[in-house]
Amino acid sequence: MTIYWERCGLCMKHKPARQCSMEPALMVCASCCVICPRRSTCPRPVWLRELGVVKPVEARAEPSEREKILEELLSRLG
Ligand SMILES: [Zn+2]
Repeated sequence: MTIYWERCGLCMKHKPARQCSMEPALMVCASCCVICPRRSTCPRPVWLRELGVVKPVEARAEPSEREKILEELLSRLG
């Protein structure tokens, strides 16, 4: 098995990862970015921006909506 994905610096899983806006030294996967407790103060959540999710709408989403959004994000990642 060839591992070609980067590794997330938070969950340590081999997944596509991007540089965190809050911690430039950190690579985060979409899952960790979405559930990050600091995301409310994050100016540019890397994955939400990448996937075209409008932050203000998502920020006031109910927990159940967040789960739906998370599922949608993960399904888009395939
Ligand atoms: Zn992760």
